[in-house]
Amino acid sequence: MTKSSQSFEFESWDEKKERAVKIVKKLMKMYPRGTMEKILHGDPYFTLIRCIISQRNRDEVTDRVSKILFKKYPTMEALAAAKAEEIQALLKENGVGLWKTKGRWIVEASRILLEKYRGKVPDTLEELVKLPGIGRKCANIVLAYGFGKQAIPVDTHVHRISKRLGLAPPKSSPEKVEEHLKELIPKELWIYVNHAMVDHGKTICKPIGPKCGECPLNQLCPYAKGLIKEEDIKGKSSTKKKKNA
Ligand code: SF4
Repeated sequence: MTKSSQSFEFESWDEKKERAVKIVKKLMKMYPRGTMEKILHGDPYFTLIRCIISQRNRDEVTDRVSKILFKKYPTMEALAAAKAEEIQALLKENGVGLWKTKGRWIVEASRILLEKYRGKVPDTLEELVKLPGIGRKCANIVLAYGFGKQAIPVDTHVHRISKRLGLAPPKSSPEKVEEHLKELIPKELWIYVNHAMVDHGKTICKPIGPKCGECPLNQLCPYAKGLIKEEDIKGKSSTKKKKNA
């Protein structure tokens, strides 16, 4: 039996690590970004504000609104000096969901960064998650795409695909998925995981009706072999970590 057609049920932790590396390298070939410049979104502050706007929004809306916002308020100082109501109105008229909360977060985060961090976005997860509107996913996005650090933001695509691929236990929370991925994948590859899985999740491994028949990962995927089913990965997330899941 070749490694690619092995039974995933009896896979050792080392075999899983080997498979995880193969998966990431294949994904990198399927969705190349080329240079690091193409991976970075811009500066850490832009990435942070963009991430607040992006929550539960489509990418097209986030891209458009971020441009409009930064054209009108091009600096941290400008956003810190703005009234929350102004930002809320801008978000609302441009179709951003949760505009009220996000408008407040954007102004508050900008003020805190100016007052407490002397205008510099902190580059640690621990500090980033203290900012309003910044959870673990956004903090990792800032680290990866703002600073170019090795981090794995777990959004809805990474969460779903990692579980379908059996790289994390079926009921894992996003935090537990992140932990498993970090243990399985060498650090120098972390920064590629999010954008490649996002692209894969939008094109092939879609939330409903993944196209396993045409997926280049299907020989490496227990979901494609019927060993993990959709109902297994849905439902309540567990925070309990199991290395052999
Ligand atoms: S084989 Fe299917 S479930 Fe597995 S990664 Fe590809 S599309 Fe997703």
